[in-house]
Amino acid sequence: MLKDRYGRKINYLRISVTDRCNFKCIYCLSKGKWDWIPHEEILRFEEIEEIVKFACSVGVKRVRLTGGEPLVRKDIEVLIEMLSSISGLQDLSLTTNGYFLEEMAEILKKAGLKRINISIDTLNPQKFEKLTGKPALKKVLRGLERALEVGFDPVKINVVVIRGFNDDEVVNLAKLSFELPVEVRFIEFMPIGKNSFWSEEHIVTIDEVKQKLEQEGSLVPAEKIGGGPAEVWKWKGAKGKVGFISPISHHFCSTCNRMRITPDGRLRPCLFSDIEIDLKQALREKKATLKELFTKALELKPLRHHKNFTRRPMHAIGG
Ligand code: SAM
Ligand code: SF4
Repeated sequence: MLKDRYGRKINYLRISVTDRCNFKCIYCLSKGKWDWIPHEEILRFEEIEEIVKFACSVGVKRVRLTGGEPLVRKDIEVLIEMLSSISGLQDLSLTTNGYFLEEMAEILKKAGLKRINISIDTLNPQKFEKLTGKPALKKVLRGLERALEVGFDPVKINVVVIRGFNDDEVVNLAKLSFELPVEVRFIEFMPIGKNSFWSEEHIVTIDEVKQKLEQEGSLVPAEKIGGGPAEVWKWKGAKGKVGFISPISHHFCSTCNRMRITPDGRLRPCLFSDIEIDLKQALREKKATLKELFTKALELKPLRHHKNFTRRPMHAIGG
């Protein structure tokens, strides 16, 4: 069982399979120079499998693949197939910008992926292009449709709320949950990776978002799927739900159940802390065991985060 020195059980790993991405979201990229991680430093599928097998043997039950953009990693479905057959792994999910979903949703489903989150921060095509650097809103929406068609359930939509950019759209975005069986989840803007766009003024708290939605109609508590920190609600009569994630205004560190693995094989006990443990020592050099390195990570997991910029940009950690 993975338990840290504050008694928190770790049963969830978020694994970033690449730091590369076909989008350039203004809130994700760092203002500092980031040299892409060289290919030989990126964990191979067999190495990720070895880590997940070990993690599941000591109590991890859920794994999320992320990035960068996980769907730009060549043959990602092969990794999904490898992981989905690991005994003890109950939930395998993936977070994507949705660009390649139209073509890949069915392949991912067949490979054994259980759940999918798609990032859609605006329904305005011009703003979408400004945010991501790609004129791709329509294609991403087709990807969402395809994910639903092939039977992903639930499909969650991630929305990072930024004042002056999309705070005027929260009600419209949430209304997707009326028509579609999706969970639209609002996330507070976090200061990860010396992001030049981040400032206190750009944060919109979850309380403010919730108030805006309540003005449209009162929300009632809804069933939560997955063990994450979201608070889940719904409008009466809606097919789907809305979720709220407030890492900044109401941090949920006391119930944190996760650790992250970067594309270059560093185990990161906390998103907001640059403490990292190099798992490649165990995988390639056999200088330590995974058990020793996970134990070290548990000892170093901070009690809570302090709102600070990290050295690594978000796309190289895995949000
Ligand atoms: N490329 C995929 C995507 O965009 O969904 C997966 C990786 S992305 C880093 C994972 C999630 O982190 C996305 O939902 C993204 O919106 C979110 N994210 C990125 N930078 C963020 C920030 N500074 N604050 C809050 N969420 C952020
Ligand atoms: Fe790429 Fe996702 Fe970061 Fe946007 S949020 S730049 S899609 S990794």
